[in-house]
Amino acid sequence: MKNYHIITFGCQMNKSDSERVSKFLEESGLKESSASEADLIIVNACSVRQSAIDRIRGKINNVKKEKGKPVTVITGCLLEKDKKEMQKLFDHVLKIEELPNWPLPILEKRKGERFTVKPKRCGPSAYIPIMTGCENFCTYCVVPYTRGKITSRPSKEIIDEAKEAIERNHKEIWLLGQNVNAYNGDMSFPDLLKEVNKIKGDFWIRFTSSHPKDLSDELIDAIKKCGKVTKYLNLPIQSGDNEILKKMNRPYTTEDYRALVEKIRGEIPDITLSTDIIVGFPGETEKHFRNTVNLFNEISFDMAYIARYSPRPQTAAYSLKETVSESEKKRREKLLEELLKESNMEKNKNYKGKEVRVLVMKRTKKGFLMGKTEKYKNVLFKGKDELVGHFTKVRINECTSWGLKGKVVKK
Ligand code: SF4
Repeated sequence: MKNYHIITFGCQMNKSDSERVSKFLEESGLKESSASEADLIIVNACSVRQSAIDRIRGKINNVKKEKGKPVTVITGCLLEKDKKEMQKLFDHVLKIEELPNWPLPILEKRKGERFTVKPKRCGPSAYIPIMTGCENFCTYCVVPYTRGKITSRPSKEIIDEAKEAIERNHKEIWLLGQNVNAYNGDMSFPDLLKEVNKIKGDFWIRFTSSHPKDLSDELIDAIKKCGKVTKYLNLPIQSGDNEILKKMNRPYTTEDYRALVEKIRGEIPDITLSTDIIVGFPGETEKHFRNTVNLFNEISFDMAYIARYSPRPQTAAYSLKETVSESEKKRREKLLEELLKESNMEKNKNYKGKEVRVLVMKRTKKGFLMGKTEKYKNVLFKGKDELVGHFTKVRINECTSWGLKGKVVKK
């Protein structure tokens, strides 16, 4: 066995896990390759949506057709029901945290080791998991079943990993967790942010995800006062209707959410806010959806990740009768996307003629450089490859609803 290929589905947490798997396999003598050259294919799965499971099925069938018989492993976030199905498609269904004990001859010598390897990083961002698991049991969500109870990493391990990433020239630290506000290591999450903020160097700190019920005044204060923490916050509302929020087991009301946003904007007026919304939850009527639309218009988010509800086995909502057709879910999704487009256009217009600091992420297929502003806006511009991975200044001369375009400001 010489080459491996890893396919990752789902959130940044899974991407971060895959970076660690890659490093571990390379330390064991394997090289990363394309799927067609690999003897070992690993799929790091996500069970959050049925569509991801369907895509895994398609992808592995294609890989097997192309390549004949590489050894195939599926790992990651998997429900018991999905595991059973995946056993028919993959040679092995294995737990990621048991990687040193995976039944692969190449790993024979590493049996019994603890899987806490440093990740193989690429790109300017370093994703650092600070906690995993969740005990909130939102009725639509599989995470409490696939990731289990909350476990938080010791702060020293996190801070050391962040220092090392900065020394290796990463310009952005992403602290990750299913609900970072529930971090319960040897210090609170706001204190952890302050510690990472103290690391010397020119870099940004981001974090995700934040449950509104756990977003404390201390955290707002830490975001406000820590210069390296970007003024960008993802605050999932999920629905703009109290009845639906209750059914989702989200223990806040829309009034609580509005008050929280008001408080955050009062303290940090220039903060940008993004949210997550599920449309078509069982029982969501037109009236409920209108409440979401009203809240959406009122708060005017900078970004929203809108998902159509899909029932997942084991969750409490799985037993609820679906009442919204797929076409109606699509209509609701599209309507919110249109609203987002309009409000973004209005906001982005304000950038015209301004200079923004951008972290250059990559070159796009169309040949532009693509960067992110501190407020997480996309910026496209022309420039040399050497800029990738660095901060640069761009003067904005064009604004669209999904981002900005500009020219590098010569120093
Ligand atoms: S807080 Fe997030 S991860 Fe936890 S159950 Fe709810 S949606 Fe899932």
